[in-house]
Amino acid sequence: EVVFLNGGFVPYDQAVVPVEDRGFLFADAIYEVIRCYGGRFFRLDDHLERLEQSAAALEIPLPYDRARWTQVLEELIRRNGVRDGSVYVQVSRGVAPRAHAWPDGLQPTVVAIARPGGTPPAEAVRRGVKAITVPDNRWGLCWVKTTGLLPNVLAKQRAARAGAYEALFVRDGLLTEGTSSNVFVVREGVLYTHPLANILPGVTRMVVLEVAREAGIPVREQAIPVQWLERASEVILSGTNSEVLAVVEVDGRPVGDGRPGPVFARLREGYLARVAAETGA
Ligand code: PLP
Repeated sequence: EVVFLNGGFVPYDQAVVPVEDRGFLFADAIYEVIRCYGGRFFRLDDHLERLEQSAAALEIPLPYDRARWTQVLEELIRRNGVRDGSVYVQVSRGVAPRAHAWPDGLQPTVVAIARPGGTPPAEAVRRGVKAITVPDNRWGLCWVKTTGLLPNVLAKQRAARAGAYEALFVRDGLLTEGTSSNVFVVREGVLYTHPLANILPGVTRMVVLEVAREAGIPVREQAIPVQWLERASEVILSGTNSEVLAVVEVDGRPVGDGRPGPVFARLREGYLARVAAETGA
């Protein structure tokens, strides 16, 4: 296994970063996870655009343009023989003696790792997954994809302990998103999802919205009161690793009839059709 580190490809065991890397000390870093199907990236440009927005928000100068990122990531999956899998890309502000404010002229640390797999288990697709709700105790810049993920980590661990797949954040009584997914609720035939305000603008969320509009499913990007879960006919997750999944139980109560529903089926089918059309997989 080879890893991309600061401009070169190195064996996994030799890919090391100094202890005063600000990514390690302060989570002063941004990241992306990008899927590939059949050796081709899905929506790479959308992920790179989001990486640029995250970098701009944190004033981290990105060392490569999109053409160079594309070249690097394509070479990374090729060298690792990854066809169906994902890459993790992280850019930290760089290495400096520990102090909150950073000095001028830092060289960002760039790491990219490729892994096979990533498709959700067939069982999760067929039967749907369970979720729990948790308080959204994150900060005010949730649209920035930073490695500061402790609220997400703790929430996901709680979900795992409860035998659930995902934890759904609730802020001021409203459903925002999952720890690593966006969330949709179907009510009276309308597909609802939180607007792009202090949530992560999911690439898969965008694909799902495209598919829904194309399929003539009415869509509303508006905040969803958590109480709606009790009367929702469907709850659906979207994410790079989850793709599109049905949530059939929240906090131990069934969603709708407790089985993946028709809107989920159409959205997942539409998602896979787009993957096929855009990657040839
Ligand atoms: N919301 C959060 C908090 C995430 O971390 C992620 C991805 O990891 C998503 C949503 C889904 O985004 P995407 O579809 O771009 O993977």
